[in-house]
Amino acid sequence: MTSSNPLRAWLNLALWKKIVIAMILGVIVGLFMGEDALWLKPIGDLFVSTIKMLIVPLVFCSLIVGVTSMKDSTAMGRISIKSIILYLGTTAIAITIGLAMGHLFQPGAAMNLTANAAADAKEAPSLIATFLNLVPKNPVNALAEGNILQIIVFALFLGISLALIGEKGKPAIAVFDSLAEAMYKLTAIVMSFAPYGVFALIAWVAGTYGVKTLGNLAWVILAVYVGCLLHIYLFYGALVKFLGRLSPIRFFKGIRNAQAIAYTTSSSAGTLPASMSAAQNHLGVSKGISSFVLPLGATINMDGTALYQGVCALFVAQAFGIDLSSGDYVTIIITATLASIGTAGVPGAGLIMLSLILSTVGLPMEGIAIIAGIDRILDMARTTVNISGDLMVTTLVAKSEGQLDESIYNDPNTQEPTV
Ligand code: ASP
Repeated sequence: MTSSNPLRAWLNLALWKKIVIAMILGVIVGLFMGEDALWLKPIGDLFVSTIKMLIVPLVFCSLIVGVTSMKDSTAMGRISIKSIILYLGTTAIAITIGLAMGHLFQPGAAMNLTANAAADAKEAPSLIATFLNLVPKNPVNALAEGNILQIIVFALFLGISLALIGEKGKPAIAVFDSLAEAMYKLTAIVMSFAPYGVFALIAWVAGTYGVKTLGNLAWVILAVYVGCLLHIYLFYGALVKFLGRLSPIRFFKGIRNAQAIAYTTSSSAGTLPASMSAAQNHLGVSKGISSFVLPLGATINMDGTALYQGVCALFVAQAFGIDLSSGDYVTIIITATLASIGTAGVPGAGLIMLSLILSTVGLPMEGIAIIAGIDRILDMARTTVNISGDLMVTTLVAKSEGQLDESIYNDPNTQEPTV
């Protein structure tokens, strides 16, 4: 890549390299500008809005096309069950890793705080209510509000009905197919602006939190980051290798663009277009599987959030000198796993859910206020785990269904589609 023209050299660079350079420059510029880096944030916000613009039409159209292209009607049920078992199983492991990290690093041990009052025990949102809420009363409303689970349910029903009416369904399917293709193209266009959005967002985070991250809270950050790295690279890597019989290195290369977007935007729902592109263009997952399993994961699978809640629950217990019983640990694992289903894939959602975990085991709510100061830095890591988990499960499900094109998966030169 030797070119005498720096602009041309930059434009010719692979997208992931541009994103890595943007991140490094963003940290340097952010630390240099300090709080003034807030001026750069609107560029990042613009990028995030542009990605968000894609989510509803992308999920809706591609899922309808995915369902109508599924020849075997029992396949859908099988794929759903496999995905949900893998999503929930890996979340329970994630929170266990989080608790282990909390023990290992003892992030709150040096703090000696006293709570005003123990939290009142609150109820977790009822499973029945969550379940009933899956079916939209008004699908147009679900689309307008961007309620992904309701959109998935309606798209599944519509897709199945279009397939059932045979010839009469074909014109509508063709329209959704063409719209889905247009959304894939638009995703590629938006992704080509990722380095600039990433630069602005990272500069803002580094400028705002750069110095504040020192002190006792550095141990919370370290515990969460080490846990996240282990969960992604050891646990997911092992699942890809032993369960999927695939190369973990190729997997991690395939998902790095999406990881960078997740890290900088702190939103797994917002990363969905980038995850879809990674699954289809770099990992070789069929459109049918990726358009169903990924949006489902972006909504219900939050391994990073669960891991973070494990670390933070222990941090708060240690900081306030409260001993947790083994029953409390089990309660934390179950509540965090179920709470992850209801956690929205947007920045800061995990912090709100943390209050639920703290209250179910009677830990003081003041803990939330302490963590809130550094939550964005933790959110970046946990969101990266969240979408890596979505992509890992999608890859394994695709492989088990014979819907993984291994020639794409194993090709070291896969590219984003050209704009
Ligand atoms: N920001 C996370 C996500 O979008 C959710 C959370 O706050 O934990 O996946």
